[in-house]
Amino acid sequence: MRIPFIAGNWKMFKTIHEAVVFTKELRSTLKDVADVEIVIAPPFTAIHAVAEASRNTNIGVAAQDMHWEREGAFTGEVSPAMIQEAGAAYAIIGHSERRRLFGETDATVNRKMMAAFLAGLTPIVCVGETLEERERGETLAVLDRQVKDGFDRLAAEQVAELVVAYEPVWAIGTGRNASSAQAGEAHAHIRNRLRQWFGADAADRCHVIYGGSVKPDNIRELILEPDVDGALVGGASLDVASFAEIVTRSRTAAV
Ligand code: PEP
Repeated sequence: MRIPFIAGNWKMFKTIHEAVVFTKELRSTLKDVADVEIVIAPPFTAIHAVAEASRNTNIGVAAQDMHWEREGAFTGEVSPAMIQEAGAAYAIIGHSERRRLFGETDATVNRKMMAAFLAGLTPIVCVGETLEERERGETLAVLDRQVKDGFDRLAAEQVAELVVAYEPVWAIGTGRNASSAQAGEAHAHIRNRLRQWFGADAADRCHVIYGGSVKPDNIRELILEPDVDGALVGGASLDVASFAEIVTRSRTAAV
């Protein structure tokens, strides 16, 4: 019922020209894939060009962040309406790099989620524990706090449309992915909380995807976990061949 959702987070990589070259190649490589939701998240500067290059294809576009206000004196920020008009249909919210380096909190995540829905954008909201939190046995409590505070006041209908990315911070960019058992436990916990707080329909429809050193050679074991609905891919999404292979291997029928 939930088709795999694979998103590539390019972070601060690729100029407009590089982004368009990548998108054109990806578009022809994956043109026959209808059973995976494919999204790429370029830097703000390349959103419009990537959206044009992927128009009428099976590839969607995400922003990597956004402000919650419609407009105003917020130097350097970009509003939901601006990224939506540039061609994005999704926005990554609360990525751990933004939480760690730029002061993002569960409260700002919540404001951004409400604003994203208002602008017709689908949030891809990131949650996940640090290594210290895992070692102290706090993983599930951290996820509870991030989901409870970050998703505050969302309607069940909105949660159903959401993409939640479980991204253990210690697995991001380290080459050390969570085991399928660790991911499976965290994903099942998140879905149980969604069921408890937003109802069975929202929990069953919401995509809960995994992020943290996903590569072509580990996507298969991760996606086979019943509550892992796809992946948010950083480093391995920068190369067309490896990103396309992750998409292909995430297909339900893949062997
Ligand atoms: C990410 O940035 O969301 C991520 C998961 O990065 P990587 O795949 O490089 O670990």
